[in-house]
Amino acid sequence: REPVPRPEATRIFVVANQKGGVGKTTTTVNIAAALSELGQRVLVIDLDPQGNASTALNVDHRQGTVGTYEVLVDDVPLAEAVQACPDCERLDVVPATIDLAGAEIELVSVVAREGRLRKAILGHPRVGAAALTGPDRYDYVLIDCPPSLGLLTLNALVAGAEMMIPIQAEYYALEGLGQLLKTVDMVRAHLNPELAVSTILLTMFDARTRLAAGVAQEVREHFGDQVIKTAIPRSVRVSEAPSYGQTVMTYDPSSPGALSYLEAAREIATRGTRGSNA
Ligand code: ADP
Ligand code: MG
Repeated sequence: REPVPRPEATRIFVVANQKGGVGKTTTTVNIAAALSELGQRVLVIDLDPQGNASTALNVDHRQGTVGTYEVLVDDVPLAEAVQACPDCERLDVVPATIDLAGAEIELVSVVAREGRLRKAILGHPRVGAAALTGPDRYDYVLIDCPPSLGLLTLNALVAGAEMMIPIQAEYYALEGLGQLLKTVDMVRAHLNPELAVSTILLTMFDARTRLAAGVAQEVREHFGDQVIKTAIPRSVRVSEAPSYGQTVMTYDPSSPGALSYLEAAREIATRGTRGSNA
């Protein structure tokens, strides 16, 4: 795998779409694994109480494990919640335990409740720019969001600069996106002016159907350059990998799913932070 250049500063991606089952978690773990194979240092933050990203990356997330909940609610420094992914080089994970399900409500009474994750990430010694271009600096942080627009997702939108929206290439693909984009506008206006939708990724794409091609065309017309050229094909290998505690990148590295995620990761790494190749 030919490595790609490291970015000038840590790029923080929020992987969000309030629809469930569109490929957020699959995209988070596989893009993260692919970026690490391309020589990048990557941190995945699991922000979904389901803990699916933690499962796929094979890190401990039994109840009682220090994870995202402790960072958000108990002020535990992010660095203390980080675990190394056992099967990938350069890839770390902050796991989510089931406790995180309570955070949405427990945070309501907390001061600056929507800025908790941002503070934790920016306070991590391996996140930043110039002074930290050393070998240890994280090049990418990917936050896997739950399928809702509550306080957890809001924390991610305030923490990140780039939003990555996976869109499943099927009939209702664009439904609900309006609400998501309205939330992004609201966050940009009041909480995080930096936030931009830089990356749209078509997932579970079935090249044999006219429907998928039609949806892909519609998404490309609507979002233009923000859409990654490589679409991720629907493939059983991709969906089997998590049950082995693996990403498809290690489970079946030469499968079409793995190669597509690698290509998409390369595109993300080589183009600008504002979703264009310019
Ligand atoms: P989300 O995090 O948005 O809820 P997931 O990433 O968990 O979505 O994906 C939902 C389901 O679809 C999972 O069972 C996953 O294994 C499956 N899946 C995701 N991407 C693919 C793909 N490219 N091919 C086949 N199955 C996929
Ligand atoms: Mg998920």
